Amino acid sequence: MIIPLHSRQYDAIVVGMGPAGASTAFELGQMGMSVLAFDKQVHPRYKVCGGGLSARIERILPADFKTVVEGTVYRVQFTYGGEDSFFIEFPQPVAYMVMRQKFDQWLVEKARQVGAEIKEDEAVVAVQELEDGVEVSTGKGRYRGPIVIGADGAMSVVAQQCFPGRRFRKIPALESEYHGETPHAFQQTRTALISLRAAKKGYGWVFPKENGLSLGVGEFVRGANRPRRSFEDFVNHESAVAGLSIPLPLGHPLPIANQQANRNGYRWTGSLVRHRAVLVGDAGHLVDPLLGEGIYYAIRSGQLAAASVAATLRNSTHRLEEYERNVEAEFGLEFRVAARLGTIIYGLPRSWHWWAGRTFPDGYQRVLRRYCELLQGRETYQTLWAKILQRLKGPFGRS
Ligand SMILES: Cc1cc2nc3c(=O)[nH]c(=O)nc-3n(C[C@H](O)[C@H](O)[C@H](O)COP(=O)(O)OP(=O)(O)OC[C@H]3O[C@@H](n4cnc5c(N)ncnc54)[C@H](O)[C@@H]3O)c2cc1C
Repeated sequence: MIIPLHSRQYDAIVVGMGPAGASTAFELGQMGMSVLAFDKQVHPRYKVCGGGLSARIERILPADFKTVVEGTVYRVQFTYGGEDSFFIEFPQPVAYMVMRQKFDQWLVEKARQVGAEIKEDEAVVAVQELEDGVEVSTGKGRYRGPIVIGADGAMSVVAQQCFPGRRFRKIPALESEYHGETPHAFQQTRTALISLRAAKKGYGWVFPKENGLSLGVGEFVRGANRPRRSFEDFVNHESAVAGLSIPLPLGHPLPIANQQANRNGYRWTGSLVRHRAVLVGDAGHLVDPLLGEGIYYAIRSGQLAAASVAATLRNSTHRLEEYERNVEAEFGLEFRVAARLGTIIYGLPRSWHWWAGRTFPDGYQRVLRRYCELLQGRETYQTLWAKILQRLKGPFGRS
């Protein structure tokens, strides 16, 4: 069968309309660029995800994102298998809770409103580099444009075809959605729960939603490969969800940021630009290696990519590689510190939980409060790390 070549030229072709692709298409559309976008599914579609947005997301999203927020978290309960639990509470939001089908559809509609042409139920199967652009093929047609943006998630076709040999690290994560009456602690959708005992080297979460809970586990350290057992242990032993009948979880790989080589040496964000192809979000493995937070980085990388794509299309001397440099500058050191904290915390989870629960003089509850401030956008990983070192110096200095 001959697949027809479409004659219309667009400024950019976006593959995948999750948070990364939809925000790239929205930004490009706002800048007056013509965008053709594909998704293999039809929105609203289910996505395996906790749907926890760190509160700093409000700095990078239009304010009406709150129309799809299901809960605002002010309080985090830290547990260790139901034992020795403690709470950290703030007057300002720490996180917003969304269901991905609603949130992603809202983002896709934003892109549509600024003129992006979106083809759903149309999977991209091949991407071919041409002398002066790219050709993207689906089962239904071939489409050409000067630049392709790979926003097609952890198993990205664009990454596989345009970035051969790119190394990545995917860790297992599982998620279940409980619909029904929730325990008292989660009823006002103000409290989220984190358990360091839930995974061998990782954590478990309970996120409050309008009509239930999202529960899951992520195993964050190489070699820790028993997420299904971890999930069962977590829901069976966590007293906060005792007695609930939790459906079996679904899994999806989480492509966490990992130090990798690119043509400029070793970087935390790897190669994100090659020829006329750009990777954003999970396709570029832009996921925080401590918590597995990916939505913030998907949206922000989409915004950074759109700025570089537009500048390159408008000015032939502008280099698309600027996007890669901007991502490394904004996320690179952050991911490095996050990975270091992950090694420390997931290496000694019980001790860390004990210390984190202690208050002044030698406990780390203050550090944990600062971590919540990071989620609020009032700290960064780098400032947090400096404060942890300061606290460590205290007891050791005294002894
Ligand atoms: C269990 C679990 C829990 C998580 N919880 C959280 C959380 O609470 N908070 C958080 O911030 N992050 C969380 N994450 C991470 C988060 O889900 C991702 O980082 C985020 O979805 C990345 O967005 P994206 O747009 O890059 O990719 P995706 O959301 O995966 O979107 C990719 C899109 O591309 C489409 N697509 C794929 N292939 C093709 C193709 N060939 N052609 C056309 N379209 C295609 C897909 O249909 C999809 O719509 C979690 C992940 C997992 C696995």
